[in-house]
Amino acid sequence: AIEIAAMNKWYGDFHVLKDINLNVSRGERIVICGPSGSGKSTMIRCINRLEEFQKGSVTVDGIPLTNDLKRIDEVRREVGMVFQHFNLFPHLTVLENCMLAPIWVRKMPKKEAEERAMHFLTRVRIPNQAKKYPGQLSGGQQQRVAIARALCMNPKIMLFDEPTSALDPEMVKEVLDTMVSLAEDGMTMLCVTHEMGFARQVANRVIFMDAGQIVETNEPNAFFSNPQHERTKLFLSQIL
Ligand code: ATP
Ligand code: MG
Repeated sequence: AIEIAAMNKWYGDFHVLKDINLNVSRGERIVICGPSGSGKSTMIRCINRLEEFQKGSVTVDGIPLTNDLKRIDEVRREVGMVFQHFNLFPHLTVLENCMLAPIWVRKMPKKEAEERAMHFLTRVRIPNQAKKYPGQLSGGQQQRVAIARALCMNPKIMLFDEPTSALDPEMVKEVLDTMVSLAEDGMTMLCVTHEMGFARQVANRVIFMDAGQIVETNEPNAFFSNPQHERTKLFLSQIL
């Protein structure tokens, strides 16, 4: 579903991503971890072209990401993204947040968009919050709205950038449960997270990044029990 080949990115002089190679097949679930500043967010943001890269290639479902805006739009339609800070529109209700993109981007009739929104709000178990505004919801509920909103666009791939790290501990589980259920449905997922329980439970592969490079990648059991690189060992000793 995703092919990243020899991708390099610079911010000015700063070489932030160095020769990233990564293939993700349909239905695969990848967890990306690594120290702050290692390039995790930048890498996943390159997949839907929220960031541009200067060398190498990224292909999403056969569509190469170039400067062609039409293709960028095509890719963005396939890829849903959930951020650390939920990025909901505060002046729109939960339901309106979920209906916005299907109506404006997909030109969906209002009634259908509303049915769809309610379907996914039910899926993330907050249908009764539909008429509220984001500010009236807990952090965990807001993040589940953000997930429902992304699902309303029928994405083939979901990118998560530390979706639980801004949440109080008691709300982390409800968001992780939603993500686990998406994984069980076969969604292709790339998740930047330090929730290692989640990684053990659903990831096919764990990727460790440091200083703009993929340092190590392995299936979760081997990754946690037998890390190969010193930097991975050090990182795991700090977070586990
Ligand atoms: P964290 O765990 O803190 O979220 P990260 O692994 O997601 O870190 P990135 O946000 O991808 O790291 O940032 C990678 C590096 O790029 C950092 O050194 C950061 O300071 C730098 N960087 C990020 N965005 C920009 C920008 N817009 N301009 C210049 N440098 C940037
Ligand atoms: Mg980040």
